[in-house]
Amino acid sequence: MASLSRALHVAANCPPWRPAQRLRLQALAGAPGPRAEKNVPYQRTLKEEAQARGPSQPLPSTASVVVIGGGSLGCQTLYHLAKLGVAGAVLLERERLTAGTTWHTAGLLWQLRPSDVEVELLAHTRRLVSQGLEEETGLHTGWIQNGGLFIASSRQRLDEYKRLMSLGKAYSVESHVLSPSETKALYPLMKVDDLYGTLYVPQDGTMDPAGTCSTLARAAVARGAQVIENCPVTGIRVRTDDFGVRRVAAVETDHGSIQTPRLVNCAGVWAGAVGQMAGVKVPLVAMHHAYVVTERIEGIQNMPNVRDHDASVYLRLQGDALSVGGYEANPIFWEEVSDKFAFGLFDLDWDVFTQHIEGAINRVPVLETTGIKSTVCGPESFTPDHKPLMGEAPELRGFFLGCGFNSAGMMLGGGCGQELAHWVVYGRPEKDMYGYDIRRFHPSLAAHQRWIRERSHESYAKNYSVIFPHDEPLAGRNMRRGPLHEELLGRGCVFQERHGWERPGWFSPQGPAPVSGQQLAWMPLPCSRARQAVGAVAVIGKAVRPRPVLAPLRALLCPEAAGFSEGLADLVVRPRKALRGHSGSGLLSWSLSSPLGQNRRVLFWLILQPVVGWLQGPGASQRGSADESHSADWRAEPGREVNPSRPRPSHLLQPGPTPSNRPRPSIRPRPWRNRFYVPWSSHLAKAPFAVSRGFGDIQIEVIRRMSLDWGRMRCDVFLGWKASRPEGVGRVEGWEGPALRPRTFQIQRECLSCRGAAAVFDMSYFGKFYLLGPDARKAADWLFSANVSRPPGSTVYTCMLNRRGGTESDLTVSRLAPGTQGSVVAPAFEGDGYYLAVSGAVAQHNWCHISTVLQDQRFRCQLVDCSEDLGLISIQGPASRAILQEVLDADLSNAAFPFSTHRLVRAAGHLVRALRLSFVGELGWELHVPQASCLPVYRAVMAAGAQHGLVNAGYRAIDSLSIEKGYRHWHADLRPDDSPLEAGLAFTCKLKSAEPFLGREALEKQQAAGLRRRLVCLTVEEKVPMFGLEAIWRDGQVVGHVRRADFGFTVDKTIAYGYIRDPSGGPVSLDYVKTGDYALERMGVPYAAQVHLKPLFDPENKRVKGIY
Ligand SMILES: Cc1cc2nc3c(=O)[nH]c(=O)nc-3n(C[C@H](O)[C@H](O)[C@H](O)COP(=O)(O)OP(=O)(O)OC[C@H]3O[C@@H](n4cnc5c(N)ncnc54)[C@H](O)[C@@H]3O)c2cc1C
Repeated sequence: MASLSRALHVAANCPPWRPAQRLRLQALAGAPGPRAEKNVPYQRTLKEEAQARGPSQPLPSTASVVVIGGGSLGCQTLYHLAKLGVAGAVLLERERLTAGTTWHTAGLLWQLRPSDVEVELLAHTRRLVSQGLEEETGLHTGWIQNGGLFIASSRQRLDEYKRLMSLGKAYSVESHVLSPSETKALYPLMKVDDLYGTLYVPQDGTMDPAGTCSTLARAAVARGAQVIENCPVTGIRVRTDDFGVRRVAAVETDHGSIQTPRLVNCAGVWAGAVGQMAGVKVPLVAMHHAYVVTERIEGIQNMPNVRDHDASVYLRLQGDALSVGGYEANPIFWEEVSDKFAFGLFDLDWDVFTQHIEGAINRVPVLETTGIKSTVCGPESFTPDHKPLMGEAPELRGFFLGCGFNSAGMMLGGGCGQELAHWVVYGRPEKDMYGYDIRRFHPSLAAHQRWIRERSHESYAKNYSVIFPHDEPLAGRNMRRGPLHEELLGRGCVFQERHGWERPGWFSPQGPAPVSGQQLAWMPLPCSRARQAVGAVAVIGKAVRPRPVLAPLRALLCPEAAGFSEGLADLVVRPRKALRGHSGSGLLSWSLSSPLGQNRRVLFWLILQPVVGWLQGPGASQRGSADESHSADWRAEPGREVNPSRPRPSHLLQPGPTPSNRPRPSIRPRPWRNRFYVPWSSHLAKAPFAVSRGFGDIQIEVIRRMSLDWGRMRCDVFLGWKASRPEGVGRVEGWEGPALRPRTFQIQRECLSCRGAAAVFDMSYFGKFYLLGPDARKAADWLFSANVSRPPGSTVYTCMLNRRGGTESDLTVSRLAPGTQGSVVAPAFEGDGYYLAVSGAVAQHNWCHISTVLQDQRFRCQLVDCSEDLGLISIQGPASRAILQEVLDADLSNAAFPFSTHRLVRAAGHLVRALRLSFVGELGWELHVPQASCLPVYRAVMAAGAQHGLVNAGYRAIDSLSIEKGYRHWHADLRPDDSPLEAGLAFTCKLKSAEPFLGREALEKQQAAGLRRRLVCLTVEEKVPMFGLEAIWRDGQVVGHVRRADFGFTVDKTIAYGYIRDPSGGPVSLDYVKTGDYALERMGVPYAAQVHLKPLFDPENKRVKGIY
């Protein structure tokens, strides 16, 4: 019997490139080589029988919907289609139900996630498997309700759990934050002396894949659906309709074809291949994902499942044993994705898996002497943002996706299956599924294999990270850059990534750290004065042939580090905890060791200490250890329940052991995430690049990466980086208690400058579309809730709705006069013309929504995308008129250029379209500028603004300014499941006219019945940061949760927006809103709140009209 500690020992002492079959443990696996398919005893028999038998029943010639794939998602989708009354739905499975990933799932279901929609999706799955299906079929699905326990090994983690608990209250999910001793009482085998606390959810549990899928299939068949096994889909026939639109026509198999207008791609890791059959992009990658099953453990029976996020490990109860699995920093990609793989497994790669064992043994020490019964390592699909891929493909009407489930396809299956069925039948899902919608990806990214791979890798590795607000990805940056990118970088811009674009987040007053691709070396830093550091790190994963690594490493590492080139194949780089949690990536401090000895690690650590000390800054000692410095916003929150004087577990301060010197048998707990994290995949070509990122006080710029891909070596990455620490660390008047991060201070400066003088915002990432042609007016009248068909020169803020009255978008629409020049700012067209400006983050969603409506309604007009041809420079604030008057050749007076109008003007001699609009509640203009003119126009604006106090500002400032003014953000406080009436945007709906528009009927019904929920504005007097998901209490009852929150620097308050309901189910009148006593519960602590019916800032709306 192999024990876990034995596994650890073997893995630790074997050089990583040694073939895994030499390990004793690999006797468990039949196939040779670490990444081979595992020989599952019954696999061959089943396959051969299946192929001999052919389809399990004759194929129908037509079907209303064909679901491809009989795993969790396929079965759930089929069942929900049948439940919606769809007749003639057919599921085609290549092998037998569950043959893909589903059969070997761990089946864990946790109800709490940091997203209200996901909490609802999970709740539906749970209801279905624990109750609904059994009531319907009389069959037990195998659901076991043994509860779930989340482990907090840090204060930040416990805060995260408390936030989940508060959200759970809004959805009636019972949960409890337990102290270490309470946890011990609940789970006696657990080690708790290094815990800060746990979150216990008694009604979490475990799903049985076979039981769930067979019950779903049976229930679907009973409702008229068909399940056909042993029938691979081999092709998809596409037709082009007489309007020129590509549509699904039929699904082909070796046993005949089925004509159908719709299909759902639920083919798991094979979904990419199914997409290729029809030219549909499916941005996912396949990776190995694994757990091991232990021998019997005395006393483990009836224990809850455990998720130790900081150790990135889960422990699932399996009868009287445990399954142990998790997420690795260096996952193994499955490159081949063989279509012969059914009921298959891979050999477990112990070098990769060992990190989980360590965490597991730390949490449940009895595991150290417990044997391993079996290993389960199978394929699973992962996506760039770790969210599933759902909805209708933009390229092909009738082709729906239900794949890319990132190891959550069992627990999300029920909720997602229900939404998918709704999507197929009604064109849109019921809930806000934007986070899962394939339309969230720009087509250029959805087809970009390197980006998909890099970003999916990062997302996988960060899966168990604390979700900090304003976190930004590191991998796959700089995919789309606006015309001012370089200029703004030079002015200290710290970028955020949205939809592939780099958009300004905030500006560091120190300007940028100089980029130098030459200095890829460690530099001991002069601690006191330097503000920039340059460094390089070599991260070596598993090198199967170590030799070639040495030369390039020697070339790259500076003399100080040269000693480390010996034995490099065993080199282990361990990012320590400094600044790690903010991104989960920990790129700032390392310990490095090799089998050659401890002293080398110490030497290296000595070299690094000045770097770490410098990065922490002079206030580091007062501000706590490096471990805490990443989360000043969180740490500084008053009301935290955790005792700040509680000693921190001592292991957090010490460099950890390496595989070669690891002490045994006592294994110290060390979250693996601190050891190394490789955000770039190995196959990348050598490529210099720059990306900015803020870590607490520090701005990191990665300036060079180089990856090596020789033979079978993988995960070997070099980074060159530099860090700069902006000045301005200190306290800000009015924010009691906590020292603000410098970036917050800077965002405040940007906001107040905008309110007091002027700010320029580069919003070039916006989507900019023209709607042109003979039917453009008809289309606009149908698409937009407001009347946009005013005379040319008008600009209107409007919504676009779905059939159920939910808001698919809010945007500005400018009516155009036909241009004669035919330029990008003034297109020539026949009929009518409109210029649409939509948030860049959701441009593809808007594009798809409009295209779909045009196709469905057969409007003869063109939608033209000029997002990349035009930049957008917005100048806002009381001084904007004076500044722009020097740059534009137009009269900007109220009379000549009123609010909500637009015109063509010359800016510094360049033709631009100026729109008088504001997203921040000030006098201001947006200049929509041809790409080539952006830089000269921007520079002219900056030059003119110098004497008026004009500053650069970013989206962090926009977030704060717009929430003060009560402007909505789509997909935060305005979503496809919110109507404009509920959101307080009735003024955008032409309900007083007789004009029909999409969603009108639903709004009228809602109006007649009375609103069942309303968006309200709440403020709290106490200076506590809020970020959304806090529970809203009214008169002692939870009535909703916060959708969006920020700090308003002008009103000097934390501001929150959320929808509230009347728990009695009645309409929510304005009186109901006004009369209650409110509180916002944040991390379990209620804060008294005031409700507001009008915007907090400038409620009379004078400033946008230039009245100051
Ligand atoms: C080790 C491990 C542990 C996990 N633990 C959990 C967990 O605890 N909780 C959780 O929620 N999730 C977990 N998951 C993830 C979960 O199991 C998956 O997300 C889920 O099973 C995916 O289901 P699916 O239907 O999308 O894909 P699959 O189950 O792979 O189904 C796809 C089906 O499509 C079929 N197919 C492919 N191509 C064709 C074709 N051309 N024609 C017809 N049929 C085709 C395949 O044969 C297959 O049956 C885990 C996954 C792994 C690997």
